[in-house]
Amino acid sequence: MASELFDLSGKVAIVTGGNGGIGLGMARGLAEAGADIAIVGRNEAKSNAAVDDIRQCGGKAISVVADVTDKAAVVTMAGLVARELGRIDILVNNAGINIRKPPHVLDIEEWDSVIKTNLTSAFLCSQAVYPAMKAAGGGKIINIGSMMSIFGVSFTPAYAASKGGIVQFTRSCACAWAADNIQANAVLPGWIDTDLTKRARVEIDGLHDRVLARTPAARWGAIGDFVGIAVFLASSASDFVTGTAIPIDGGYSIMG
Ligand code: NDP
Repeated sequence: MASELFDLSGKVAIVTGGNGGIGLGMARGLAEAGADIAIVGRNEAKSNAAVDDIRQCGGKAISVVADVTDKAAVVTMAGLVARELGRIDILVNNAGINIRKPPHVLDIEEWDSVIKTNLTSAFLCSQAVYPAMKAAGGGKIINIGSMMSIFGVSFTPAYAASKGGIVQFTRSCACAWAADNIQANAVLPGWIDTDLTKRARVEIDGLHDRVLARTPAARWGAIGDFVGIAVFLASSASDFVTGTAIPIDGGYSIMG
C-alpha cells in the first residue's frame, strides 16, 4: 500500500534547530506521519513552544536543550533521546546560521562559528546517533544544504563552504552506512521565509524582488513546503534513495 510507505508510526526523529523555520516545518510533517519527535536547540522557551505545536500533530514530542557544536552536549542529547523515546530512526541536521561578509572581511572566529554550526554539527550528530540506528536495523539522515551548496555569492564564504561540504559529507555517510541500511540525503532549500532570511531581506538591498524574479514558482518558499520531502526521505518510500541532494526551491536552481 502506498500510504504504508510513508507511515512513520513507531519511529523516533531528532530535528536539530527544530524549534523554528524549516526545522519546525519538517518536524510537523514527521509528527503528522506518526513519528515521535525530539526538538534540539539552544533556546529553551522557543523549543518548548515548538513541542506544544508538534503535540497538536499527534504523537510524543520532547525538547532537548543542546548546542550542536559541542561534542559532549551532542552525545548527551543522543543518549537522552534514546532513553526517553526508546530508539532513534531519523536525524534531521538542520541547525544553521549565516554571517554575511565577503572573504577579505570575515574573521576567523566568524568562519569557525559558521563551519561548526552548519557542518561540524552534522558530523557530531550523525556519529552520535549511528549506534542507535544500527541497533534499530536502519535509519534516515536528512542534512540541510542550500542553494549555496551549488552556487557561490560574494558575501557568504563560510556559509557556502559549509553547505558545499554538507553535500559531500552526505555522500560519504551514504556510502559508509549503506550496509547498515542507513540512507543519508541532503535537501537544498531555495529562498524560504524564516527568521534567517528576514534578516537577509534587511541586509541585502532588493533581495525580496530578485528572489521573486528568479524563482519560476514566483514566490518565496514557506516552511510547509518541507513537509513532503521530510516524510519522503524519512520513510521507507525512499529506501533506495541515498546520497542525493534535492533542491526544494520552486525552480530557483534551474532558472536559466
Ligand atoms: P532559523 O534561524 O529559523 O532556524 C535555525 C535553527 O538553528 C534555530 O532553530 C536555532 O535554534 C538552531 N541553531 C542555530 N545554532 C544552533 C546551535 N549551535 N545549536 C543548536 N541549534 C542551533 O533558520 P531557517 O529555518 O531558515 O534555517 C534552517 C536551515 O535551513 C539552516 O541550516 C539554513 O542554513 C538552511 N537554509 C535556509 C534557507 C532559507 O531560505 N531560510 C535557505 C537555504 C538553507 P536555537 O536558536 O534555539 O539554537
